[in-house]
Amino acid sequence: MQTISNVQHVVRRIVRPLVRASSRNAQTDAKVESSGGYSFALNETQIEVLDVVKKFTREEIIPVASHYDKTGEFPWPLFKKAWELGLVNAHIPVEFGGLGQSVFDRCLIVEEFSYGCSGIQVALEATNLGQSPVLLAGNVEQKKKYLGRLVEEPLIASYCVSESGAGSDVNGVKTKAVKKGDEWIINGSKMWITGAGVANWYFVLARTSPDPKTPAGKAFTGFIVERDSPGITVGRKEINMGQRASDTRGITFEDVRVPKENVLLGEGGGFKIAMGVFDKTRPPVAAGATGISRRCLDEATKYANERKTFGVPISQHQAIAFMLADMAIGVETSRLAWMKSAWVVDQGKRNTYESSIAKCYCADVANKCATDAVQIFGGAGYNTEYPVEKLMRDAKIFQIYEGTSQIQRMIISRHLIEAAKSQN
Ligand SMILES: Cc1cc2nc3c(=O)[nH]c(=O)nc-3n(C[C@H](O)[C@H](O)[C@H](O)COP(=O)(O)OP(=O)(O)OC[C@H]3O[C@@H](n4cnc5c(N)ncnc54)[C@H](O)[C@@H]3O)c2cc1C
Repeated sequence: MQTISNVQHVVRRIVRPLVRASSRNAQTDAKVESSGGYSFALNETQIEVLDVVKKFTREEIIPVASHYDKTGEFPWPLFKKAWELGLVNAHIPVEFGGLGQSVFDRCLIVEEFSYGCSGIQVALEATNLGQSPVLLAGNVEQKKKYLGRLVEEPLIASYCVSESGAGSDVNGVKTKAVKKGDEWIINGSKMWITGAGVANWYFVLARTSPDPKTPAGKAFTGFIVERDSPGITVGRKEINMGQRASDTRGITFEDVRVPKENVLLGEGGGFKIAMGVFDKTRPPVAAGATGISRRCLDEATKYANERKTFGVPISQHQAIAFMLADMAIGVETSRLAWMKSAWVVDQGKRNTYESSIAKCYCADVANKCATDAVQIFGGAGYNTEYPVEKLMRDAKIFQIYEGTSQIQRMIISRHLIEAAKSQN
């Protein structure tokens, strides 16, 4: 049997070219689809990449998921292997050393990783959220320096927007940046930052307009901040309900000096960047939730065929069988939702509406599937020796980060209402 160490060797030669080929095919397929119609088929290279990802998930993630959940350690060995394989950072454009992978192809990988362990998946993938502001709004020099660094070494970037008093309401961000000569001085603190303790650099959103009446679209500026800048203090690792392999911390900025070259897009452009990245990052979050739903379905089906009550496997009781059927409906429709949202943005079209639908729907389905999986396991479902209690703890966060389910419904309903008005 092939081990991952020799897979690494193979991947340098096979997976990276495959991902490259897949990105090219996706472009060709997009042309075909725009003239043809629907296709639910993956291309050959996507299937081959998926085989490698499934193998990585089966051999590398699943066996250690419980360990990282219990210890809360950051899974550096897995991050390094995934990086070697070209399974993280593949979305970075080719001109900056990446593979130019589509959002759709990234989602395929994320769903698999998450099937293995969504906490490890976030540990491997959340760097993408940190990089997205630079991908979206960075100039060539910024991209070369900060994305190039992530391609050259297995390093991580973090997205620092939320604060203890400002999550959904980003306009409430209090961290300030003041210009002094050729530098900006940042003061304030961030909270709930994924990867804060392991990142090499941060995207930081800070208020740069002292006038409280300045609209959000002009009041904030986005900065790239080196992790080792003097004045940065990273807090303790938070002990979360689930996804414990992922690193979540607060960060304090005390007179942190940032060169003006590290401003993204220009003064006042920060809010637009911070919100704009979600069009590309919410589809993978939705795919991650789908991975959990699929795992719940598989674990629950297997258990329902093994566990007997009243002389028959519990899968023979209609109440249980229908819960499995509902889980399967959820998995299939979740996948369609993330696929559509990823496909739209890969076509170069605005997908805010579709990505909010996908993120909200897949998160809700994952929570329903996890609750039902625990129910099907009965008492064993409530116990840490069995896999489904972890799935239930891990599922919850999908309704909270990257915009809560309530915020997604606000975005969706606003879109509907505006669209209806414009038809009048
Ligand atoms: C594990 C984890 C990782 C995270 N990672 C990051 C990260 O990497 N970077 C980052 O910047 N942030 C991160 N966050 C922060 C996350 O994005 C916020 O927690 C989230 O946006 C919600 O904000 P809040 O916690 O302040 O809740 P609040 O905004 O206070 O919301 C509380 C409740 O009120 C509801 N609510 C709020 N406003 C409205 C409204 N207008 N209408 C209806 N309901 C409303 C919310 O849906 C929620 O149910 C992370 C959080 C966690 C827990």
